[in-house]
Amino acid sequence: MPSLHFPDRLARLQGVLSRKRIDALLVTQPANRRYLSGYNAEDHGIQESAGVLLVPRRGQPFLLTDSRFLLQAEEEATGFAVRLYQQGLMATLSRLLPELRVRRLGFESHYLLHATAGRLARVTDKLKVELVPGTDFVEPLRIVKNNDEIAKLRAAVLLNEQVFQKVYRTIRPGMTESAIALDLETAMREMGAAGPSFPTIVAFGTNAAKPHAIPGSRVLAAGETVLIDMGLVLDGYCADMTRTVMVGEPAPLFRERLRIVRRAQLAAIQTIRAGVTCRQVDLAARRVIREAGYGACFGHALGHGVGLEVHEEPRLSSRSRKKLRAGMVVTVEPGIYLPDWGGIRLENMVVVREEGCEVLNRDTTFLDR
Ligand code: ZN
Ligand code: ZN
Repeated sequence: MPSLHFPDRLARLQGVLSRKRIDALLVTQPANRRYLSGYNAEDHGIQESAGVLLVPRRGQPFLLTDSRFLLQAEEEATGFAVRLYQQGLMATLSRLLPELRVRRLGFESHYLLHATAGRLARVTDKLKVELVPGTDFVEPLRIVKNNDEIAKLRAAVLLNEQVFQKVYRTIRPGMTESAIALDLETAMREMGAAGPSFPTIVAFGTNAAKPHAIPGSRVLAAGETVLIDMGLVLDGYCADMTRTVMVGEPAPLFRERLRIVRRAQLAAIQTIRAGVTCRQVDLAARRVIREAGYGACFGHALGHGVGLEVHEEPRLSSRSRKKLRAGMVVTVEPGIYLPDWGGIRLENMVVVREEGCEVLNRDTTFLDR
């Protein structure tokens, strides 16, 4: 059998299983499945899984899937034994768990339907296997990125910027939010991305006061702000970026508020280094916005980790006392939102380093105006 894509990742997971005295782990979370095996199939929601991994503490790992995915599974998850669950996952586990002498089976309790967990419990009860729920078997391994992952994230960020620049030039009064969002997502695919990493946000004027606005049929008027939050997936890794622009000459109040948000972003970026808590970084940005008189206008957390998923650990929140470690990749996205005026958000991605951080975004045209 060909060798594993990521023997180091599997070895680290097996170390976790040993420490928790777990004989095997059932991996149902799709990004975790991909991270460990290289298997790249997509789930159409939690009810339509493209397969699960069964990783024993020692020896051969398995990928359990159905016939639709057999060829892809064998091509991508090299080193994994691919088994089809013709009679369903539970029937396969009923045979495989005794074969592997599993007494304690870990499962991802944050990514298994209650109904599926019930069926699993009936199987394991019968086999006298103990179920061990957990939410942090694989995620802690993913939180620090290696150089190869950082290179992929950098490439995703740069392509995302190119897509933005291309579409930005075509934005004119009279266009709708949803037309611009569609142009951005089309350009992502045309320029080589697998697709958007989340539904693109385009919000004009007061609509931008909602941090997660949904693009609609609103028509752009001259002198309105345009908030664009967009991301793409390239080689499995996600980009996430927000720019807020005004088409034509920016109004003085817009410029003033944009500068405050940019200063908040830079204050956070200057704080980021290994050993600093997430809370300290969030507060560095929040202080700038508060001192400018907009403290009540910045409700959400400052940022989040990005990797195989667009939102992952760590969260840059004022409540998190988690320490940053070198190799983590996070967004820095302060904003100011006023219901009767609109909103401004700027979002870049940075890599945490021992002595500071590296901003992955290259283009500052739309940040310092
Ligand atoms: Zn974003
Ligand atoms: Zn974000």
